[in-house]
Amino acid sequence: MATLEVVCPRCRATATVELLASETDWHSMIFGARRLTCTTCGHSKHQPARTSSNPTMGCELRLKALTRWGNLEFFNREHLAYVEGYIASPNRHVRYEGKGPRNNTIFSRLPRWAKLAGHRSEILAAIKRL
Ligand SMILES: [Zn+2]
Repeated sequence: MATLEVVCPRCRATATVELLASETDWHSMIFGARRLTCTTCGHSKHQPARTSSNPTMGCELRLKALTRWGNLEFFNREHLAYVEGYIASPNRHVRYEGKGPRNNTIFSRLPRWAKLAGHRSEILAAIKRL
């Protein structure tokens, strides 16, 4: 999940924020240096490693599924496909297998309304529009 799709702050086209850190430990993923690049207008910006998290470099995420209950935002297409697979699955039991707090899983951070089976088809339709 090193490259994020964001709205270019200059031209509103799709831009990317790429993590420049070569390490993949959690600290580098959260606080590592990043580069914003827009291939539409050529805007480019560098963010050095920080002590506070700013993964989108202050930009709006591009991928938003708009529903009547709220919006789901996705970092990139990979994240979207991962969450879409979870929402589409009738068996949503996900075993926690990592280290650290349980709410570090993507699914534990989904809002409750997004996990309700009755909302499945509308949420999936909103995701398909992206
Ligand atoms: Zn741009």
